[in-house]
Amino acid sequence: MQEDLRMFVDKLERADLLQRITREVDPRFELSAVARAVERLGKAMVFSNVKGYRLPVVTNVFGSRTQLAMIFGTSPEDVVREFMKRSEVRVDPVLVDTGPCKEVVKIGEEADIDRLPLVTHCEKDAGPYVTAGIIVAKDPETGRRNVSINRMMYKNAHTLACRMMPPQHLGLIQGKAEAQDRPLEIAVAIGNHPVETLVAATTLAYGDDEFALAGALRQHPLELVKCETVDLEVPATSEIVLEGEIVPNVREPEGPFGDLMQYYVPIMENHVFRLKAITHRKDPMWQTIQASSLEDVHLLALSREAKVMRAVEQSGAKVRAVSLVPTIMSVVVSIQKQFEGEPKNVAAAAFGAYSWLKYCVVVDHDVDVFDINDVWWAMATRSDVGKGLLQMENALGFPRDEFHIHQSKLGIDATAPLNQWHEFERKRIPGHEALNLQDYLG
Ligand code: MN
Repeated sequence: MQEDLRMFVDKLERADLLQRITREVDPRFELSAVARAVERLGKAMVFSNVKGYRLPVVTNVFGSRTQLAMIFGTSPEDVVREFMKRSEVRVDPVLVDTGPCKEVVKIGEEADIDRLPLVTHCEKDAGPYVTAGIIVAKDPETGRRNVSINRMMYKNAHTLACRMMPPQHLGLIQGKAEAQDRPLEIAVAIGNHPVETLVAATTLAYGDDEFALAGALRQHPLELVKCETVDLEVPATSEIVLEGEIVPNVREPEGPFGDLMQYYVPIMENHVFRLKAITHRKDPMWQTIQASSLEDVHLLALSREAKVMRAVEQSGAKVRAVSLVPTIMSVVVSIQKQFEGEPKNVAAAAFGAYSWLKYCVVVDHDVDVFDINDVWWAMATRSDVGKGLLQMENALGFPRDEFHIHQSKLGIDATAPLNQWHEFERKRIPGHEALNLQDYLG
């Protein structure tokens, strides 16, 4: 059987990257508060005692570069390159007869969202949300599949609100169905192997099947099963699947919701999802992702880091590493500098490849792009603020920008002067890197 979420969680546990939390937690705020603290340890979590519910809740399976590296069987530094390499040739999914997500099938009134431990993350959130559901839909004209992640707010045992908006593909697809006055069938799979969540968070060309990217990243075709009440297919190994439809020509209030940038998106008139069926495993796990958590940022960063790395390498620069953490609106690129001025070209290439960027800091190969303290050190000790800044005014930036503060960009050359390495070589202490502290603390 293909690797699924629980197999991945076991793998994390064997690598000491999992924290089990057995003390009772309230799914309203408390679970979220604990997760915020535990993510700093670089560990995923399974909450096995969620107040009012039988299901355990898993979160933060992507919260660090080390966890991402476990998905790709590579080192933390090589995750982006491995993602790029595996993405090159798509592998179409295959349909199988049945799978674990069909162990329990509940159709109609029997299907009940109230049994699922939806989490309320932030103080002013409108209520509990489904945040880790991957939504499968098909273009009503072409039949092409789309997979995406969209937040869904609890309304009642059979109804959720759902945010979708063109140019996001699900919004485009819903618009086509609505133009024909037809409901849009969707399936929401929750509790997925990290690869399926990752591809759902990746923006491909319209019409490209995200599940074919999942097969490429898995290096094996993704196994899908047919849904019970909608003409769609979902991963056979998902924990829980909600089947239903988006009602045409209806909008109801959704929000506020603490979003990616750590701000609340306001109440908006959004779409309504009507549940038709739930299928799940005998002992399912619920999964949640906190918006703006380290997990959320890592999840969104990877495919964008690949875009930046590809563009910067095509400019001729020798790239060592790229990081869009801790915010996906700024990037750090480390290079083996070949020419004076080259870091500005690197920044320009990065801005061209990925429009949401506001800052691009270019550092030398000896700086750890994953350690923001190290990056700040390089800026303080190597950059020339008089000559090393690339400013772009009124370019294309992050689109939701009511105050017009995200449309200009700054590239910062934080590299040492060329051919002066003897002056800028970092001091090191022989033996420090290989040191095992436990040997001395005994
Ligand atoms: Mn798509």
